Amino acid sequence: MSFGKLLVANRGEIAVRIFRACRELGIRTVAVYSEADEGSMHRRMADEAYPIGPAPASESYLNIERLVEVILESGAEAVHPGYGFLAESAAFARAVREAGAVWVGPPPEAMEAMALKVRAKEIARRAGVPTVPGYDGEDASEERLAAEARRIGYPVLIKASAGGGGRGMRAVARPQDFLEAVRAARREALSAFGDGSVFLEKFIEHPRHIEVQVIGDEHGKVLHLFERECSIQRRHQKVIEEAPSPALEPELREEICSAAVRLAREAGYRNAGTVEFLLDGEAFYFLEMNARLQVEHPVTEMVTGTDLVQLQLAVAAGEPLPLSQEALSFRGHAIEARIYAEGEGGLPAGGRLLLFAPPEGPGIRNDVGVESGDQVPVHYDPMISKLIVFAPTRRMAVRRLRRALEDYTVLGVPTNLPLLRRIAENAAFEAGETTTDFLERHRLAEPPVEIPVPEEAVMLAAAGELASCGRGDDPFAAGPWRHLGSVRLRYRTGDSWHRVEAERLGGRRFRLVQGGEEAEVEVLAFRNGELHATVDGRPVRAGIALEDGAVRVSLGGTVYELFRPRPPEVDEAGGAAAEAAGLVAPMPGTVVKVVAEEGQRVEEGQPLLVLEAMKMEQPVTAPHAGVVRSLPYKEGDLVPGGAVLAEIERED
Ligand code: ADP
Ligand code: ADP
Ligand code: MG
Repeated sequence: MSFGKLLVANRGEIAVRIFRACRELGIRTVAVYSEADEGSMHRRMADEAYPIGPAPASESYLNIERLVEVILESGAEAVHPGYGFLAESAAFARAVREAGAVWVGPPPEAMEAMALKVRAKEIARRAGVPTVPGYDGEDASEERLAAEARRIGYPVLIKASAGGGGRGMRAVARPQDFLEAVRAARREALSAFGDGSVFLEKFIEHPRHIEVQVIGDEHGKVLHLFERECSIQRRHQKVIEEAPSPALEPELREEICSAAVRLAREAGYRNAGTVEFLLDGEAFYFLEMNARLQVEHPVTEMVTGTDLVQLQLAVAAGEPLPLSQEALSFRGHAIEARIYAEGEGGLPAGGRLLLFAPPEGPGIRNDVGVESGDQVPVHYDPMISKLIVFAPTRRMAVRRLRRALEDYTVLGVPTNLPLLRRIAENAAFEAGETTTDFLERHRLAEPPVEIPVPEEAVMLAAAGELASCGRGDDPFAAGPWRHLGSVRLRYRTGDSWHRVEAERLGGRRFRLVQGGEEAEVEVLAFRNGELHATVDGRPVRAGIALEDGAVRVSLGGTVYELFRPRPPEVDEAGGAAAEAAGLVAPMPGTVVKVVAEEGQRVEEGQPLLVLEAMKMEQPVTAPHAGVVRSLPYKEGDLVPGGAVLAEIERED
């Protein structure tokens, strides 16, 4: 038995990943999408797609009633919830079953048992699995909690029983701060999870996060697929995950993995799930069980050669697991990096992706939820894609990760790629010295003071402008070169100005001079925002987005934004003489008319030329009275964005 049609009650990369598995199995796919996701990749990919409501998740992806309508309307025989949203909702699992469809996940009873961390810990104890020392008893009065905290010994961690996604946790270092922290934690838990109950755990310092992938079928078989290490976290949310853990020797691995299987059996668990532990030296403690597919499941797939989504579907269809514990093994090393649409500091960001070009090559897997041109909505989790690298050894996997991150180009929306690169380059990471406080310990979470814009980025921005402004076989025949020996470009970043003088050497080669540095740049190709060039013979690749008013350059993975001064804004820092004001093209365009001449005296506000850009005519006027010293462009000329259009010398 298998399914003819499956609905994914989710969005983004996980919906895309599940649809791909379905296509390989010949299962028809049904997408649901909110108003914010009308143009989204997961919607485009599915055989059928249904709108489910406004952008806020509470009115769409969390709307059980509407989802059930779509299940009935589409005739979907099974529902996969992905992760997040309703993945851990037993109520949704039941509603799916009542609608006559199969729930691709554990039985609702097992989900309920795991939904509250306190109950999950009870099950762990029954299964003989060690839990973090703490207090999760009935009496949750402030007096009792304070007394228990003293008994456990500081520092302690106050946790929301219904917590998840790294939220609802508070570490307390000193007894005098305890009561206030409990009250705040309760308030937070109530507003975030609708359940204010909290419990205590000993705060373990510098642990590793180790988790075990398990899967069970309807025929009593429960297997593990070894561990993942997810110690590199920001605010208790995973950032980098890998398999296997660099910290486990075979004996300890066997102990942890069999503990996870015992716990899953005790809970009557079926389908895929993850048992999370903290590892403190050789001691391990159960944290919680996630009754769903995990974000980081691909690293397990890479090292075990399995497809967890396909296994989930088989098990949900009642088939016996086509695996045995003895036959399962792992090979090589896999590392996943989560790509978040966020600014430095971790604030979620949205917008249109001008360019989204993930890396390619052997041992590289990209699980993506977006493509170039897509809109990233701000309403949902900011993770847009995952990069997974695979290599025979951890050392090679780290090198591959570095290379892949360098080649990852995202323009238009800020991402955490700079943070991921700082982690990948870190020596302690390379050595496998990873603990949950890794980012703080190595001060990687803080953005670097200010990244100066490398001269190469400015030159490549200029090369992109120049290469984009011609047409046809010889892009420069119709460009600004037609009349000019050289072109001058100007950009601003923060308080500094960058000036580039470009001289065409023939073909697509030019000499660029910037801040005294000189380089010969040859543009090899510039398509879909990707510029391939040589700089003094050395090949470079950059992502270049030419926008209204700015050029964004992605170089070696870092994105630099170069602003073009707007006319009639005066480049006050212009030239050797502050007297000479340069007027700069805000975007590429065509000169439709030149109304002044070199040497002419002009009044402030007098028109000099008319530029057509973005289908609009823009008069360029004199910012002050003076003599037109240069007016390099003629009617019909194409001008690159950032080009100096005129210079007016003030008169004394
Ligand atoms: P994983 O271990 O699979 O990485 P996470 O805890 O990071 O699990 O959560 C996976 C996704 O589900 C994240 O995108 C997170 O935002 C979301 N999520 C998990 N639990 C919750 C929760 N209780 N409330 C809201 N979102 C959650
Ligand atoms: P969530 O449901 O939010 O995923 P978890 O209980 O799985 O919550 O914990 C998430 C992370 O918080 C862990 O990976 C670890 O970094 C940290 N953490 C949780 N419990 C403890 C503890 N007792 N001591 C130290 N760190 C902890
Ligand atoms: Mg967890």
